[in-house]
Amino acid sequence: MPSTLTVSRVLDGVAIASEIKSEVAREVEAAKRSGYTPGLAVVLVGENPASQIYVRSKIKTCGELGIHSELHTPPATITTEELLALVHSLNARDDIDGILIQLPLPEHVNTNRLLEAVVPEKDVDGFHPINAGRLLSGAPMDTVLAPCTPAGIMEILKRSDIRISGANAVVIGRSNIVGKPIAAMLINASATVTVCHSRTHDLPKITREADILVAAIGRAGYVHRDMVRPGATLVDVGINRLTGEAEFSRFFPPEHPDHIVRRRGFDKRGSTVIGDVDPAAFAVAGAYTPVPGGVGALTIAMLMSNTVKAARLRRGLSRA
Ligand code: NAP
Repeated sequence: MPSTLTVSRVLDGVAIASEIKSEVAREVEAAKRSGYTPGLAVVLVGENPASQIYVRSKIKTCGELGIHSELHTPPATITTEELLALVHSLNARDDIDGILIQLPLPEHVNTNRLLEAVVPEKDVDGFHPINAGRLLSGAPMDTVLAPCTPAGIMEILKRSDIRISGANAVVIGRSNIVGKPIAAMLINASATVTVCHSRTHDLPKITREADILVAAIGRAGYVHRDMVRPGATLVDVGINRLTGEAEFSRFFPPEHPDHIVRRRGFDKRGSTVIGDVDPAAFAVAGAYTPVPGGVGALTIAMLMSNTVKAARLRRGLSRA
């Protein structure tokens, strides 16, 4: 193992998420003292097991932080018109500050129509075109409802004192949920940003120039060690499940520092989760977000933060 392994700093998403949740809980207490309770409505259509798990943990976190929450669970047979009526009724309620429509929706439902029906002031997922436009136009982050995963990445970088202004940032991935919004946020924070995707020529040449490399691809261990500039900050957004023994042995050989822990989990559950960065590449990084325990840990914390932000902004209040 190279000596650089000892200097790679782990950017602990779990610790940062817990810091943010404590701040949100304090803000909720202050809101209650001034006469209102931030409220989140979650709409979960049908019975997708993965969505049910995500929603359960969002509702549970609301409870822990003192945020009012309510869950709407229409059947998978609901029509777009019926869902629009539900969204309109939530838009009109003063006790609801955030509306989250858990994706994916059944195929017959018009997802875009529904997401655009949520009033931008209650769009805690930050997917509405008005909020996407505000982000692009460089509105200050405390005045805009921005998508949770890229907002979480910015919190990790800022709270870990990673220099963004003037840095060369390379983003792999151009999705509306991660790639494009994180590129906008990095530009707003004065990084020089390059966005890459599946048609990019000579990706390694570009990624090797990155001081900050964000991987949001959805391909296990795609970013190899030789694609990383030594000392760079690696932000691994990917969540990929490895189930094959050959893949497991490739990414976690016996000499890998996490081999024993990973092997135990893999033997027990038949799978292990890795990101879009080959774990071997972390050894040459200056700092990196692990998977699990990095970016993924921030997403619910940022949803909570967006809910109290929406409550505050809708009432024309500044931060407590
Ligand atoms: P997505 O919509 O599938 O977008 C993937 C992007 O990667 C696309 O822009 C695609 O390019 C690009 N790409 C695919 N193969 C490539 C290659 N060989 N070289 C360069 N670029 C390539 O995925 P997403 O929603 O952004 O999610 C990305 C990953 O992050 C997934 O693993 C997802 O599970 C994870 N994720 C995690 C969180 C979290 O909370 N941690 C949240 C959201 C997503 P094209 O546009 O050219 O197809």
